[in-house]
Amino acid sequence: MAYVALYRQWRPQDFDNLIGQEHINTTLKNAIAAGKVAHAYLFAGPRGTGKTSTAKILAKALNCVHGPTPSPCNKCPNCERITAGTSMDVFEIDAASNRGIDEIRDLREAVKFAPVEGRYKVYIIDEVHMLTAEAFNALLKTLEEPPAHVVFVLATTESHKIPATIHSRCQRYDFRRIPVADIEKRLSVVAADSGLDITAEALRLIALHADGGLRDALSILDQCTALGDGPVGADAVRGLLGLVGHEWVWRLTDAMAARDASAVLLTLEELIALGKDVRQLLLELAQHGRSLMIYKAAPEVAGLDTHGGDRAILADQSARFSHDELVRMIQLLQNAANEAKWAVEPRITAEIALLAVCRRGGEADLAALAERVAALEAALAGGGAARPARPASAPAPQPRPVPAAHTPAAPETKPAAPEPKAAVPALTGASPKEIWDAVLKELVAGGKRSVHACVSQGELITLTDSQATVQFTSSFAKERSDKEDYRQIVEKSLAQITGHPVKLSCVAATAPPPAAAPSPAPAGAAPAAPAEGHPALNQALAIFGGKIIKEEKNEEV
Ligand SMILES: [Zn+2]
Repeated sequence: MAYVALYRQWRPQDFDNLIGQEHINTTLKNAIAAGKVAHAYLFAGPRGTGKTSTAKILAKALNCVHGPTPSPCNKCPNCERITAGTSMDVFEIDAASNRGIDEIRDLREAVKFAPVEGRYKVYIIDEVHMLTAEAFNALLKTLEEPPAHVVFVLATTESHKIPATIHSRCQRYDFRRIPVADIEKRLSVVAADSGLDITAEALRLIALHADGGLRDALSILDQCTALGDGPVGADAVRGLLGLVGHEWVWRLTDAMAARDASAVLLTLEELIALGKDVRQLLLELAQHGRSLMIYKAAPEVAGLDTHGGDRAILADQSARFSHDELVRMIQLLQNAANEAKWAVEPRITAEIALLAVCRRGGEADLAALAERVAALEAALAGGGAARPARPASAPAPQPRPVPAAHTPAAPETKPAAPEPKAAVPALTGASPKEIWDAVLKELVAGGKRSVHACVSQGELITLTDSQATVQFTSSFAKERSDKEDYRQIVEKSLAQITGHPVKLSCVAATAPPPAAAPSPAPAGAAPAAPAEGHPALNQALAIFGGKIIKEEKNEEV
């Protein structure tokens, strides 16, 4: 026997098994028991919430040999034929594919004839909002003077598209999204019955993802049966649904809470490298933001229909944002998710949104802003977007003098500290700057533009026979350059230029606080080099080009 999809196997066959629509069950049952059956119904509601199933149960209730009855027997020939879809009196019309006037004219002719087997002819018109205006007019004629033996059930997911003239002739029932807990409960019954070994967490994930539609939930469960041996876990379901996953969402939210732009961009990059969908990520982040917002407003409500039921996480993260910040974060993420749908580079859309969340409050100082610009710049280049590459022969971005005191404090891989200028390459006789320029040039020539965009933000401060120490002011650029893939490329270039293997050591510049910036020149002196300016200013110069004409310290003249 052919395989029957779970949602069809488990289609409710009587009013009592209709999930999540108790308000409709009760009303319809009472109406049937009282003999007050309307001749036209409008079933409105989201997909997969039981509109067609209810229509078929209604048809059985009316045509069951023991009826009309609120509890059709499901055993008599009439009930069985309706269940099987072979009844001569029940017609299912899909308005999405039969939306023209001809179909409705045929219907107008056919309704005149008496039912063949039961008491009523039941016309179920699915997605009725798809009918053309002419077809609606033709249908209206029938609804105005319906034969007594005809019941219409018009089902729609978009009730606002139904003309008022039609609407006013129908009894309207609104189907609700089915609560997550109800879907979850149903799924576990179905899974147990079909012998599917699946974890509770996985079931909850499916229930959440189905967004109130039981049919979708059962379809996903159906796909899980094909996943193979062993219990189906949340990870498998995530893979199936293309979900990013809570751990990532939590990590990114943590980074945004800490306003750590580098961590945000690095995590995003990792996710993209894993092949995760950027838009899906934004949607899940927005969902999580919603959970945080709800938790903050009313902790007792959270956990009902929210993602990430882990209350400890919700408590911790929601405390790190203000309510307004959460609202803004959700708006930013949702807008970005919409834009990402059409964006040529969804990644950039995501970066802008995530960084905007980091920048909340507006008190970001220039240095942080410069860092973000630098990060975005590097990421832009990494994403393959067009950007005029900085000429390789140009001076390195921050040609600031390097005092000996600047010995790197960060990742010290060698016990022997990098030696200052004296011990520089005997091999070629070139200065570190010349060597670094050659390396950068080589990267461009080799087509490694994204690597170039990133590492060119650093400056080679010391070079020994075995190690090149490159200093960065942007922590993003430093961390990115320090990663294995970029590091290998740079080390290869270094080896080519110097003629022997050289290890790359990336260190952070210990930027002096802006106010106390020790200026080598006296205060009033004209700036001799870009190094004179604020670090942020230098960064902007390095990225955008140009020169400082005048740097205003304050408003007074
Ligand atoms: Zn029956």
